[in-house]
Amino acid sequence: MTLKNIELASFKSFGRKSSVMFAAPITAIVGPNGSGKSNIVEAIRFVLGEQSMKSLRGKGGVDLIFKGSKTLPSANRALVSITFDNSRKIFSFTNSGLGIPLDYDEIVIGREVFSDGINRYSINGTEVRLKDIVDLLASVNIGSSGHHIISQGESDHVLNASNKDRRAMIEDALGLKIYQYRIRESERKIDKTLLNMKEAQMQRREIAPHLAFLKKQVQVIEKSRLMREELKDLYKTYFSNESTYINNETKRLAGLRSALLEQGLSLDEKISSLQRKKNENAIESEHEKQIKSYDNDLSLIREKKDDLARSLGRIEGIIEGLERQFANISLKKERVISESEWKSFMKDLESRIDEAIASTDLPNIGRILRNMKSKLSEFLPKSEMIDNKKLSLNENKEYMEMQNAKNGITSDLKKIKEEELDIVKIIGNLKQKEQESQSALRNNERLFYELLNEKNKVDADMKGLHFEEENLALIKNSFEIELSEAAGFVGREVASYARLEAGNEISRSFMDELRRKIERIKIKLEDAGSGSGSDVMKEYEDAEERDKFLAKEIDDLNKSIDSLKLLIQELKEKLDAEFKDGVAKINKQFQNLFSLMFGGGSAFISITMEHKRPRNMLSDRDESISEDGESNDADELGQEETELEFERGIEINVTLPKKKVKDLHMLSGGERSLTSIALLFAISQVNPPPFLVLDETDAALDESNSRKYGDMLLNLSKFSQLIVVTHNRETMSRANVLYGVTMGAEGASKLFSIHLEDASAYAK
Ligand code: ATP
Repeated sequence: MTLKNIELASFKSFGRKSSVMFAAPITAIVGPNGSGKSNIVEAIRFVLGEQSMKSLRGKGGVDLIFKGSKTLPSANRALVSITFDNSRKIFSFTNSGLGIPLDYDEIVIGREVFSDGINRYSINGTEVRLKDIVDLLASVNIGSSGHHIISQGESDHVLNASNKDRRAMIEDALGLKIYQYRIRESERKIDKTLLNMKEAQMQRREIAPHLAFLKKQVQVIEKSRLMREELKDLYKTYFSNESTYINNETKRLAGLRSALLEQGLSLDEKISSLQRKKNENAIESEHEKQIKSYDNDLSLIREKKDDLARSLGRIEGIIEGLERQFANISLKKERVISESEWKSFMKDLESRIDEAIASTDLPNIGRILRNMKSKLSEFLPKSEMIDNKKLSLNENKEYMEMQNAKNGITSDLKKIKEEELDIVKIIGNLKQKEQESQSALRNNERLFYELLNEKNKVDADMKGLHFEEENLALIKNSFEIELSEAAGFVGREVASYARLEAGNEISRSFMDELRRKIERIKIKLEDAGSGSGSDVMKEYEDAEERDKFLAKEIDDLNKSIDSLKLLIQELKEKLDAEFKDGVAKINKQFQNLFSLMFGGGSAFISITMEHKRPRNMLSDRDESISEDGESNDADELGQEETELEFERGIEINVTLPKKKVKDLHMLSGGERSLTSIALLFAISQVNPPPFLVLDETDAALDESNSRKYGDMLLNLSKFSQLIVVTHNRETMSRANVLYGVTMGAEGASKLFSIHLEDASAYAK
């Protein structure tokens, strides 16, 4: 026996804790109308996780809790627990890992509902979720469709159900729900995977522009890096050449400078020495001095000569006058000269002597003349005293002195003239020499100007050199600037350029070209922006890695969708095969049981393919009491709506013996009941559930059919435990154990075990 017992506490009419033991293959529950028998069936539905309030004949959770009676108080919760035998360890979870131990000989499932509608489930006292209960029960072929519990008045439920619901019921009964469950799980996984994929695709799309932007930047950085490499090479060539050039130029200019300085100094020396000479020559030359002094001498001599000549002339005039007077006097010897003549003669003589004195510079002549004047009276006596003797001039002392003076002057004059000639000769010689030295001087002058010219050239060269030096300084300066700029562009190692071996230098024009190239790259680098871009590179790598990760994830998700689809396909094929197989088996039993019940005729179920119906038409479910809102049927419907265009259904085909009626609607109540029971029992025989609960399924049967029904119960009880609520004596007689239910004086249902004889009181 799998089902051991059920305990009810404050559930519906069971105000007191009551329990039913299911120790036999067939347990019958009997009792008067309204005593609470169906409440026991509902308690079984309830504890196995029923979510439909309609199936529990209530509107809300509170309707399931004992409302109280005149003597018993109302309760605030209802509790039902059901105990299964697990000595063969038949219970398991299809979804492993719930962590609830099942290694017990008994499995007790409990459910309580509170007046606020909250439900609580437990397995062996451990609180669990509804889905855990459903999962656990599925392992012992107790499906959630409740096909193994036939409530009162629902004996023809299977006939009333839609093709689709029938199909679900049969799938459940055949234990194929597990496939549906797994298909749904897989479909859910696909949905989840699609969502994840959408999310990943969205993320990928989101990062795509940024990644593209970063990629462009990275390309720019890479281009910059290549340009930097090129720049570094160009720089090395440039610095090597430029430094060698600067070095060589510095040496060359220094050499040129010292050569020019030396040349300039030696020229300066020569020039200043010539200058000195020139200055010296500018001072009056010795010759000129001499010539001047000789010229002075000459003019003095000439003056003296003129003086002497003049004095000589005058003396000769005086002597001539004297001689003439004397001659006059001599002519007039006898004659006496008058006083006036005398005086005039004396006066004339006196003035001639004065003239002579005044004009002569010769002192001795002057002295002689002044003696003559003072002795004139002696020199010429008055007429009355003239005597011939006295008139002889040769005897006159002064006259003789005069003559001597005249001779002296004449001789002096002769000497002076000789002296004059000598000096004129000397002057001539000196002038000759002066001419010679003037010519030498002109030669010097020419040389001086030549040297000056040369010096000017040296100065000009020096200026040129200076210009070159300044130019080199500029080159050096820009070299230094370039070096520090280069370090900024390509790093400090650029300073480790090598000097070139002599002769390996590049031409200046090529260097200019090199410089232009460098400038062009620098401008490009500046345009591209500075920095090594390591941040951007890192960001790009991260973004690319993320993108690759997402792409891989999308790929993985696609693969997992594919494998899930494959799995679903396989599950559907399996389900389909097993379903068809199950239907065939059911048909075999159905036909047997049907002809047994009706004494002939034919019955079979067939698989239909129908257009999917809109959801609202499909759902005839009432309010759910599930606390977590989980409804497998709702899920299933949702799933089918989105995935299936067609849905399978089960159609029931019957032909009653001797009758042509085939339409199920045209069957009588009893016929409907019998057909339903035949099908239900056929299904139960193909895949027997652990137990079957049948609440007054036999209500519509006549005596003969009740017997057949009783036979079938016996047959069925070999495979499944049966709990029957009945008023049917025939049925009661087939039961091993009977429970009586009464509505006691307390206003609550009471349970007690009874004997068949006592039970007949409850039979119809
Ligand atoms: P019948 O033979 O007529 O089918 P039954 O024995 O199956 O009757 P039930 O339908 O199980 O009777 O019980 C119905 C009784 O349960 C009613 O009398 C009803 O008042 C009572 N009942 C239902 N819900 C509650 C509740 N929450 N509290 C108290 N009593 C309740």
